[in-house]
Amino acid sequence: MIVTRFAPSPNGPLHLGHAYAAIVAHDLARARGGEALLRIEDIDGGRSRPEWIAEHVADLAWLGLEWDRAPVRQSQRLESYRAAGESLKRLGLLYPCRCTRAEITAAATRTGPDGPVYPGTCRGRSVDPEGAAWRLDVAAALARTGPLEWTDERAGTQRADPARFGDVVLLRKDLPASYHLAATLDDATDGVTLVTRGMDLFAASHLHRLLQALLGLPVPVWHHHPLLVEPDGRKLAKRRGSPSLADRRRAGEDGIALAGALRDGVLPAGISLSSRLH
Ligand code: GLU
Repeated sequence: MIVTRFAPSPNGPLHLGHAYAAIVAHDLARARGGEALLRIEDIDGGRSRPEWIAEHVADLAWLGLEWDRAPVRQSQRLESYRAAGESLKRLGLLYPCRCTRAEITAAATRTGPDGPVYPGTCRGRSVDPEGAAWRLDVAAALARTGPLEWTDERAGTQRADPARFGDVVLLRKDLPASYHLAATLDDATDGVTLVTRGMDLFAASHLHRLLQALLGLPVPVWHHHPLLVEPDGRKLAKRRGSPSLADRRRAGEDGIALAGALRDGVLPAGISLSSRLH
């Protein structure tokens, strides 16, 4: 049975792009007789707000989307992230780092999917681990796993290239996790077999595949769907004036009809779907 998921971060309102992503996750599960899950990615304490969770749940119900299990909240799973972090430390694959964002930007020689790539400054150094972030030694990790592949059902089989991220932070200094670690663990814990998300996270799957190999997790198939983009090709975003789903819901718009229009590819003027790598 296939299991898909929609995984919003409650740090702001959902907009049309999120509606599209939720519909893809939901409809793929329905079309194939599987389950669609809702996961709330609320571990970013600085930006997550509980009030957004209720709004997101109401928006999704307004669109007519139903989920097959009670929503999972990442903030309730910190212990499992901590345990995975400890096992990666025991393998000698994590190292502490206290570099600031400004130091990394100044020292970086290339840009990766998440911005300036950390150049490995603290690798092999003795750094006080108290209050430090922990980074994955990607070269050592790859030496352990050997070459890896993963499959996106739209783009085909990919040779995993996690090095493009550099040595990413897996345990933040304020959290026993990071997006990459938490999302990878959750997909495994919840038995997600088809990771449904936008093309903006295509590159993340190179790293998630490595984490799966290191942690002995099952390997899903991925489905990275096209993104709703503005005429300039940039991802649709609330800050550039697209109304939120909550605004539309409160204004009395019919959410089921909106979901139907999105399914039929009917988009607002100037907005289109793009499969370009972001
Ligand atoms: N929480 C992420 C977002 O809102 C999605 C993560 C994922 O689907 O893996 O962009």
